Amino acid sequence: MLTTLLKQEKTKPIEEKVPLMTHQNRLSNKTAFVTAAGQGIGRASAFAMADQGAKVIATDVNEQHLADLMHENIETRTLDVLSETDVHDALNEVKPNVLFNCAGFVHHGTILECTADEWDFAFALNVRAMFITTKAVLPHMLANGSGSIINMSSAVSSIIAAPNRFVYGTSKAAVIGLTKSIAKDFVTQGIRCNAICPGTVESPSWHDRVTALGKELGSYEAALEQFVSRQPMGRVASAVEIANLVVYLASDESSFTTGQTHIIDGGWAG
Ligand code: NAD
Repeated sequence: MLTTLLKQEKTKPIEEKVPLMTHQNRLSNKTAFVTAAGQGIGRASAFAMADQGAKVIATDVNEQHLADLMHENIETRTLDVLSETDVHDALNEVKPNVLFNCAGFVHHGTILECTADEWDFAFALNVRAMFITTKAVLPHMLANGSGSIINMSSAVSSIIAAPNRFVYGTSKAAVIGLTKSIAKDFVTQGIRCNAICPGTVESPSWHDRVTALGKELGSYEAALEQFVSRQPMGRVASAVEIANLVVYLASDESSFTTGQTHIIDGGWAG
């Protein structure tokens, strides 16, 4: 059997074995469903995938965030990922072959400041919502024999710790476990599941975190300096830099990649 396979592969020229990729329309055969697409990384990824020819269903709990998400390949839809029924309805209707689970929240504080309610909320939004969306989408992907699931984790997870990111880092570490488990169980059935682990990324909620720290330190600039000084490249990422990785993982260019934690952090964890 193995010999037969090897022989078959050898008879084909390499350019027929590996799909030729161009830099345009890399996702022209995809329908991508994005959660938390209203701003930040989700928004940049929705645009990047739409630019590459995917039909994108961009969802967010905040209708206003979606209002100016204009692109001929983007359809917007209000969706709270915490609503199991709404998630099921949306995914059973769209049946995407790419799911980008981007929704998540950054809690501030150590274990001593973290309440049981904050713990439950962090796990509900950062982890449980992915369990619900993935369980809803998998039967459709399995029926098609293919699908790419991309889960938003963070460098702050099982990879590295950052001060005052107790429940955030704990929940993002769980995302990595969830990702690897799904990848392992469905690897023979055409399903790929990968986690993205960014370092600090400029986004509206990141600016809120800088502002909050600025109130403690006396100025926004002092807070910005603290965030940037921990970055080896001397800057934080733009959301577009993360969106480029999302496009790659959504596309068939990454067809041999599954179950991985893709660290994209400007050298922070290196
Ligand atoms: P953001 O935090 O600025 O925006 C988040 C979006 O999520 C908002 O549009 C909000 O309306 C939406 N949202 C919140 N609750 C929701 C819900 N229940 N259902 C659907 N949508 C909901 O964006 P960001 O900073 O790019 O963060 C996006 C993801 O990336 C998060 O999972 C975050 O943990 C992760 N991340 C961010 C950074 C960073 O530094 N910004 C780094 C690593 C990982």
